[in-house]
Amino acid sequence: MDTQTITTTERRTTVRPNYRQGPDSARVPRLLALSGITAVACVVAVGTITWVRQGTLSDRVLLGIWQGWRDAVWEPWFGIFIVGLWLLQWRYPARRQERPLGKGLVQDLGWFLLSPVLAVTIISAYLVLLSTGVTAVLGNRTLDLVPALGVWRVAVLAFVISDLMAWVSHWMHHHLPSLWQFHAVHHSQTEMNVLSDNRQHVIETIVAATVAYLPARFLGLDTVQAGTLAISTIYVSAFIHTNIRTNLGPLRYVFVSPQAHRVHHSVEERHYDTNFGTVFSWWDYLFGTRYPGDHEYPPTGITDTTFPLERSANPVRVVTTWGAQTLHPFRVLADRT
Ligand SMILES: [Zn+2]
Ligand SMILES: [Zn+2]
Repeated sequence: MDTQTITTTERRTTVRPNYRQGPDSARVPRLLALSGITAVACVVAVGTITWVRQGTLSDRVLLGIWQGWRDAVWEPWFGIFIVGLWLLQWRYPARRQERPLGKGLVQDLGWFLLSPVLAVTIISAYLVLLSTGVTAVLGNRTLDLVPALGVWRVAVLAFVISDLMAWVSHWMHHHLPSLWQFHAVHHSQTEMNVLSDNRQHVIETIVAATVAYLPARFLGLDTVQAGTLAISTIYVSAFIHTNIRTNLGPLRYVFVSPQAHRVHHSVEERHYDTNFGTVFSWWDYLFGTRYPGDHEYPPTGITDTTFPLERSANPVRVVTTWGAQTLHPFRVLADRT
């Protein structure tokens, strides 16, 4: 057995997902994922053909990268919100051993600053093609509830439906081995903090953008309104990843709390496959995936010992580690084939 074979074999034995896998555990999510990916791929293909024929979108896709990045990272209200949450996690930490200014926070800051580069290029191009495809396939045939219900009621409805679809997507990321590899990047954080939601692989962001965008679009919101709705969850996501000791009291029966989401990120096996919600906790009660303990604050992370976890807060190392973490799922999947 040569060195390469040993390395690959070792990686296979150490790359273990943070969920329990039965013999048929991936059958349903695989079917769901294949149907969803096929449908979206067809719509994007139609969008691409329409785009090439019309030739009208090149400036929207290729220009404005700097402005898009600036808009993504510089939102004053979000900045104030983040600083406020950081002060809370410093004052009332769920786990004191997770430092408020540790290398985990610095690496997530790296994700916060570097991921928009991919978001404003790959994802915005993808969303343009997706929305062009939806328009080409459906024309104006959406439910168009806005005239009857008004923008706000439709926005609330779209928000709830998007949250349900996010639950389904999240559940699938934990039950499909290939999707898990991309989602594991998000779960790799061992020092949960206010910026941890930004540690999200571009492949997962594409899936999340799709499930957030489509329901709003089908209900009759325009592209800008649908996009605004998708972005609004970043406040909730920042809150539930913060290292704060709170389970929200009675509100936990409606909303996901930092305590509940920490349990979702737990490395302890008894917490696997629980608390998939992003905004509303009622989906987990409904689908039987709610973890019953509301006062546990476990350590977080993944069991993959080959994952390139951050070792330093040096800015250059942060950038190279971000690259290594982004490439890691592709390396694992390549090793398996
Ligand atoms: Zn997860
Ligand atoms: Zn999370």
